[in-house]
Amino acid sequence: MKNYNRNNKILITGGAGFLGSHLTERLLKEGNEVLVVDNFFTGTKQNLAHLLGNPNLEVMRHDVTFPLYVETNQIYNLACPASPVHYQYDPVQTTKTSVHGAINMLGLAKRTRARILQASTSEVYGDPEVHPQPEEYWGRVNPIGIRSCYDEGKRCAETLFFDYNRQHNLDIKVVRIFNTYGPRMHPNDGRVVSNFIMQALQDKDITIYGDGQQTRSFCYVDDLIDVMVKMMNSEKSFAGPVNIGNPGEFTMLQLAETILKLSGSKSKIIHQPLPSDDPKQRQPNIELAKAKLGWQPKVNLEDGLKETIAYFKKIVG
Ligand code: NAD
Ligand code: UDP
Ligand code: UDP
Repeated sequence: MKNYNRNNKILITGGAGFLGSHLTERLLKEGNEVLVVDNFFTGTKQNLAHLLGNPNLEVMRHDVTFPLYVETNQIYNLACPASPVHYQYDPVQTTKTSVHGAINMLGLAKRTRARILQASTSEVYGDPEVHPQPEEYWGRVNPIGIRSCYDEGKRCAETLFFDYNRQHNLDIKVVRIFNTYGPRMHPNDGRVVSNFIMQALQDKDITIYGDGQQTRSFCYVDDLIDVMVKMMNSEKSFAGPVNIGNPGEFTMLQLAETILKLSGSKSKIIHQPLPSDDPKQRQPNIELAKAKLGWQPKVNLEDGLKETIAYFKKIVG
């Protein structure tokens, strides 16, 4: 007789990307079966290379804008390019990925009765007038700008999650992720941490967009994965949305100076034009995550950057 396997069967869309590959590693370590579904737009097989020998891992090339019929009892929906450079490359596909992707994954969750978690974003707050941002804040998003394909796509995905919850009683979880960094960010990813580190390690100019006074709050990847898994396994009545990130807030100038100091680089800072709709400030209010999930980040910016610089040093050689 077949030996029925009662392990968790977890689907991760976007599992070959930066966050997805760390999540895959964590869930395999905990003894789960993991199915990664990815179209490899920004993710790479290299991100999963060290895990490919694990018999509990299956990797499938698939675009979530098309239907997907598999069996699963938990879905982490991470598929979507996260860097402005990448999500603006094919903005229509970006919106399709968030919206059609959410519909397909929610349809899959409905058929299999799986619990489903959406990787939403601080971008739902746009360029915020409320600081720091609590979950109750509805945000200030330009609906027709160059960032809208990402911001509005993610907002619509949240709407779909809550409507499937109300209409079909689906077991949903929504996390709003703030800027996260760490090893396995793509070296040409275009986001600020990878750009500055790659530039510093190659003694190239550090490109600050605008005057560098805009702020972001940076969370180290290990802290983020901890809370994402906690949220997935939290009590059913808590659907979110919940902010997850590190409240430590820095200007881009401070970030550049810290990376220059930690890498011992001779690079000089230059200024380039600020892209349109670039949010001026961003900092999560994480009181809800603390109260409901008993979580707060542990890794400070300097320690996280040291790990990340060490990773990029290996790539640069
Ligand atoms: P990433 O670009 O490294 O990973 C995204 C993954 O999704 C890649 O592997 C990519 O190939 C895949 N993908 C893209 N479109 C797809 C499609 N149509 N079908 C299947 N796969 C597709 O980005 P990341 O930083 O790992 O982000 C993961 C998720 O977390 C994204 O949904 C992103 O919006 C969200 N998020 C990340 C951050 C952050 O700071 N890293 C912040 C907020 C939200
Ligand atoms: N879907 C999927 N996998 C499944 C079930 C559904 O990809 O296992 C897709 C299907 O293409 C559908 C979408 O999810 O269009 C939404 O499904 P739902 O059941 O909500 O809607 P309907 O099938 O009635 O359009
Ligand atoms: N940024 C910068 N130089 C770069 C890349 C980004 O000054 O080489 C700035 C960007 O304008 C923004 C901040 O850094 O103000 C964070 O940008 P990122 O693309 O990492 O993320 P997001 O804007 O989506 O938070």
